[in-house]
Amino acid sequence: MKCFYHVDQEAVAQCQYCGKGLCHDCAAKHIPCLCDDCFDQVNANANAQAAGAKKAYKKERNARRRDALAVTGKDMFTSSIAGFIMAAVGIFGLRYLETGSFSLEGVYWFETFLIGFLFFCVPFGWRVITYLEQWLPCILMSGPVAFIYIFLKFAGSLFIGIPVFLVWFMIYIVKLIAAALKR
Ligand SMILES: [Zn+2]
Ligand SMILES: [Zn+2]
Repeated sequence: MKCFYHVDQEAVAQCQYCGKGLCHDCAAKHIPCLCDDCFDQVNANANAQAAGAKKAYKKERNARRRDALAVTGKDMFTSSIAGFIMAAVGIFGLRYLETGSFSLEGVYWFETFLIGFLFFCVPFGWRVITYLEQWLPCILMSGPVAFIYIFLKFAGSLFIGIPVFLVWFMIYIVKLIAAALKR
């Protein structure tokens, strides 16, 4: 048998897939022993498979991100629990900074309520910023950079928390009403 690609050369091997004769040089080209055509075919298949896996991964990741903003009862519940903890930390923390004691004696209740509400909404803002992080460039999340980033994220959560909470709350109520009307 002659080499499929070099008719003047004796074949010393065969392509493992299609059985074409291959000369010494051709047989040494690819591992496992494949002709050029089969090698290209195998690579194309592998690339298609990798592209398919990448697509599936992206689809799943996007679904997960959409879930993060689904405003389910569970979302509202967990964020609210975290919100009450944040509210307590905010109210008593600021009180301590202001007066050196945790006592709420003589506070302005309206002001305290507003501070509590502001901090209560932080976990809701936090969730939205977590969602937005998918468009952030990769930043080094270690050491001081991570510390600064978390601080900025907290500040951002404070800033957008109240509107996010109000919008979410309204969406949640509408969903509840829609579900009740369906019954
Ligand atoms: Zn072949
Ligand atoms: Zn050859």
